[in-house]
Amino acid sequence: MGVLAVYGVSDAAARVYYGLHNLQHRGQEGGGIATFDDSGKYHRYRGLGLLSEIFTNGELDQLPGRLCVGSVKYANASRGGLDNVDPLFFHHRSGDFAMAADGNVVNAAQVAEYLEKRGTIFQTGTHSELLAHLIKKTAGEDRIVNIVKALNMMEGGFAFVIMTPHRIYACRDKHGIKPLCIGTLDGGYVVSSESCAFEIMGARFLRDVKPGEIVTLDHHGLRSTLYSRFSRHQMCAMEFIYFARPDSDIDGCNVHAYRKESGRRLARECPAQADIVVGVPESSLSAAQGYAEESGIPYEMGLVKHKYVGRTFIQPVQSMRELGVKMKLSPVRTIVAGKRIVLVDDSIVRGTTSLKIVKMLREAGAKEVHVRIASPMMRYTCHYGVDTSTPDQLLCSYRTLEQACEVIGADSLGYLSPESTRDSCFGCANPCQACFTGEYPTLLYEDNNTED
Ligand code: SF4
Repeated sequence: MGVLAVYGVSDAAARVYYGLHNLQHRGQEGGGIATFDDSGKYHRYRGLGLLSEIFTNGELDQLPGRLCVGSVKYANASRGGLDNVDPLFFHHRSGDFAMAADGNVVNAAQVAEYLEKRGTIFQTGTHSELLAHLIKKTAGEDRIVNIVKALNMMEGGFAFVIMTPHRIYACRDKHGIKPLCIGTLDGGYVVSSESCAFEIMGARFLRDVKPGEIVTLDHHGLRSTLYSRFSRHQMCAMEFIYFARPDSDIDGCNVHAYRKESGRRLARECPAQADIVVGVPESSLSAAQGYAEESGIPYEMGLVKHKYVGRTFIQPVQSMRELGVKMKLSPVRTIVAGKRIVLVDDSIVRGTTSLKIVKMLREAGAKEVHVRIASPMMRYTCHYGVDTSTPDQLLCSYRTLEQACEVIGADSLGYLSPESTRDSCFGCANPCQACFTGEYPTLLYEDNNTED
């Protein structure tokens, strides 16, 4: 998911709309934008699909105000439908507010049980609603105190943006698993999942929200509150490897620069005898460039991506994913025919895409296909909101390297080590790599899910 908010900016909804387009890669199932106007009245428009499909008929004109929050929603089979598209809106006698979230609360079942036993009735399956109820369970004190208390009851990888008629609160989990950053715009502020949204909005990057930090943006300016004394910095490695846009800087590290460095390290760790290096578009191109530079093997465009087809990884069901692969890539026959190819990809999740690409290159005349992956073998489920599948679906959960190579039909297969995955990152000394190593930054609460 992607979240974006502005404080104190004219045409706030239009600015957020354009910014959200640069976050569309973070979610394609739905999206929405909400504002408070100068009289404190709330406005919202949400829909399913891409932003260009949702906002088609002047809806932005119905969203006045200088405070705005928006989101794009990632396909998530367990929490689908329009009701679960952020921003959510809440009426309360202490003041109305809206909220949007990225990520996942791993103790959501326990928190929901706690709230339900105290009379809460949920209307959605979102973690925005969970946080909203937690905040209001402690109503009567300062709002920031309520938010601090509520966040301390939550564990996971998340970023929340809360909008009241007068301010924005930007909250990042205490492990810093999910990205969240702040920019300045026309004397106001912007909060975004990724800094790539800033350029199109005319905003300037200010800084990242720190792990465990709540940033308050209002007429006083910017104020910082740490909601927990425990904070670590374990930014999601998959954001750098696959998920984020290459023009984003996260925690002081540019995503393209990370990928290129990981490609260089991959070339050193997993060399191959080949004629050309080919990257799988789009997220693997930077790593392929790094591999080519380090190995001295020329980089070539052996695959072309068809535009306007959604990412296969994000499609919610397997049948759609398989159709998506065929629709989105073509081999460049005159480039690959008769060649020994190093095929660089960012990661392998289920292996279905890799199998099809290797087959596609062979059918186009490639002599050999040596697959090199710019991340370690993915063996474990992500519990922090990235759909990396369950172990029984993952190619490498129960297979050796040789068996995985056989499944995808490659001549050889090599993966980047967890050490190089960590060391390619300049801004975060110890990123989360739990889907590769099984070492989760938080408790998972899997065995504690109880029902009344
Ligand atoms: S488990 Fe993997 S995908 Fe999930 S937050 Fe950690 S590195 Fe990212």
